[in-house]
Amino acid sequence: MSAIDSLPPLREVIATHQLSARKSLGQNFLLDLNLTAKIARQAGDLTGCDVLEIGPGPGGLTRGLLAEGARRVLAVEKDSRCLPALQEIADAYPGRFDVINGDALEIDPLAYLTPPIRIAANLPYNVGTELLVRWLTPKEWPPFWQSLTLMFQREVAERIVALPGSKAYGRLAILAQWRADARIVLSLPPGAFTPPPKVSSAVVHLDALPEPRFSADAAILSRVVATAFNQRRKMLRSSLKGISPAIEDYLHAAGIPPTERAEQVGLEAFCALARELAKA
Ligand code: SAM
Repeated sequence: MSAIDSLPPLREVIATHQLSARKSLGQNFLLDLNLTAKIARQAGDLTGCDVLEIGPGPGGLTRGLLAEGARRVLAVEKDSRCLPALQEIADAYPGRFDVINGDALEIDPLAYLTPPIRIAANLPYNVGTELLVRWLTPKEWPPFWQSLTLMFQREVAERIVALPGSKAYGRLAILAQWRADARIVLSLPPGAFTPPPKVSSAVVHLDALPEPRFSADAAILSRVVATAFNQRRKMLRSSLKGISPAIEDYLHAAGIPPTERAEQVGLEAFCALARELAKA
């Protein structure tokens, strides 16, 4: 195993700074620097880009991103115990790495970043899903980011790339594929992490499209698909009743049979329905 930088191995960093993993923060660390460099390579060409990293922990992925040539990495980390270890990385890469200590769900780091911006993260899955939905549903498009390279539980990764008719197809697939190209680029067994989680993981890479595949209002589309898939086995005329009492008319206008179930309806049809509802 070759060293990717002159910093100590991550096991040593963790021992020195006593970074015992906390379950409450979803801490499953990646300690193999060749693996973190491999994940960083999936983020695309980082030279000339600012990279926003959420949840750097002891800094394995951070070091991968810097070694892969990121112009600058800005990280948001909730656990202040990680700050001294991250400072060592900042010292080794002068002017290229900054950390904000805080909760990524509450901080808006945009003011600290210069385009082009890529985002990379290995996050606890609930935080990751929440951030992914936020990054995919701003009112205006294109967004502030060019690409997202994110670690998820394998099952969540499959939901992001799922196609109509499959069990995994739902809100995440529609929101992701509406405005981005999404693909699974790496699969990782539990043993890749310390401590190992119960399930396998996968890295998903999403490239922002210059414009959405079909026009629709993000808030309306988001609400329609969340409601439709909340009762995925029901016919749309019944699962979407709460959105409008005249939902059958809107479904007809969008060319969707009201007896259809959410998992049979494609992205284009959901966007057509969101446009019909927006007229109301
Ligand atoms: N990136 C590191 C790695 O790959 O080894 C750590 C990954 S660990 C799965 C998740 C990291 O996210 C932890 O360092 C944890 O403290 C941090 N974290 C958890 N919730 C967070 C939040 N809401 N905002 C920012 N960081 C968070």
